Amino acid sequence: MTIKETQEKLRKKEIGLEEFLSQFFSRIKERNKDLNAILTTFEDAKEEMEKINKTLPLYGAVFVVKDNILVKDKRATAGSKMLEHYIAPYDATVVEKIKEKGGLVIGKGNMDEFAMGSSTENSAFGPTRNPYDLERVPGGSSGGCAVAIADNMCNAALGSDTGGSIRQPAAFCGVVGFKPTYGTVSRSGVISMASSFDQVGPFAKCVDDAHLIFEAIAGKDKKDSVTSDIIKKEKKGSIKIGVPKEYFVAGINDDIKKVIMQAIDKIEKSKIEIVEISLPYTEYALPTYEIIMASEVSANMARFDGIRYGLEFDRPFAKTLKEAYLENRGEGLGREVKRRIILGTYALSSGYFDAYYIKAQKVRSLIAEDFRNAFNKVDVIITPTTPTLPFKIGEKIEDPLSMHLSDIFTATANLAGLPAISLPCGKIGNLPVGAQLMADRFYEDILFEVAKKVEKIWKN
Ligand code: GLN
Repeated sequence: MTIKETQEKLRKKEIGLEEFLSQFFSRIKERNKDLNAILTTFEDAKEEMEKINKTLPLYGAVFVVKDNILVKDKRATAGSKMLEHYIAPYDATVVEKIKEKGGLVIGKGNMDEFAMGSSTENSAFGPTRNPYDLERVPGGSSGGCAVAIADNMCNAALGSDTGGSIRQPAAFCGVVGFKPTYGTVSRSGVISMASSFDQVGPFAKCVDDAHLIFEAIAGKDKKDSVTSDIIKKEKKGSIKIGVPKEYFVAGINDDIKKVIMQAIDKIEKSKIEIVEISLPYTEYALPTYEIIMASEVSANMARFDGIRYGLEFDRPFAKTLKEAYLENRGEGLGREVKRRIILGTYALSSGYFDAYYIKAQKVRSLIAEDFRNAFNKVDVIITPTTPTLPFKIGEKIEDPLSMHLSDIFTATANLAGLPAISLPCGKIGNLPVGAQLMADRFYEDILFEVAKKVEKIWKN
């Protein structure tokens, strides 16, 4: 059931509160041992639910929140051994907002360590599995949340998206995932990965629910200085959707291409204008993302030094500062995180700073300009969300470069700060395929309007 349907039934007492919540908890109990989607379950949530005002907009929305988002007095590991015993001292702004609006949080979602990954295999607490095929990955880094929604362990979720971490797992698990315009949702209380890219957004069963959750969490927050209130951008005239030719060339699986093309055909048949467009800098997007992301990661990871944050050892603490750093980082961080710290530190070091970091920033501007030009011609852009189907667990873990290719269609929206949504558009065999819609910055209204139309077209 969608959140709105749930609300109706709860308000009219067609379903009881106890019975309603128990479904989720028993589902978690039954399924989580196979799926490993949830890291912590909040058994005390049932008492909280009874106190919630029935008229609030998120009443009946039962959330799993990614484990890099703080929920007061609960564990927040960010998928890392480093934070295995870390208890959050306050609520993230997004959590405060969903609670204020009637939402209930019942658990924390598994994730790649510090949100670095595309498969949830980089979690220190074991991989999450795809409910459509237990041998396959659910995507990442917010894999736990995507699975929780897809497998009915909750009816709402919050993830974070730095280069695709909401949209890619949404596509792999057949659910809706939305990354808002950079700066519309507060990052306060969200454990940072790469600060100029990170945005929190919803996973949901349908576009309507994602929209509802987005409106609840968006808005200016004095604890995150880059946030602004939602700027409503109006659009006059009929909608035009652009298909960027660069997204349909090398690297994309032929079957996925076919499914997306069929999905686009259906849109065209329902009399929405489709035009081909070009985003010429697309081929530089992934290297640009990698350089800037790793640079920001290397700065953000510095706080995990054993003093501000760190491991809890059951042996005497290190005698020197250097020893403390080595022990904490050596034992507390996984391979992918270390790899990115090294890469980012290198890109920022004197002598290489201009050649890598500054150059990447310049290309980032060009990519944003590509989109500005495109949005002079069209309102929304449609692309595949991922170049492949969910891959097998273990298939790419030894080959980080091929793992990073998973983000090829999603990282551009983070580079340019655009809102982007992934929604199911078909299947290949038993496995779901996602399509991505992007709009210009702050054009969330149009994006949701088009996404709702398209969702209806594809369901029929
Ligand atoms: N898969 C991407 C990466 O590993 C994106 C991660 C994210 O969005 N948090 O960088």
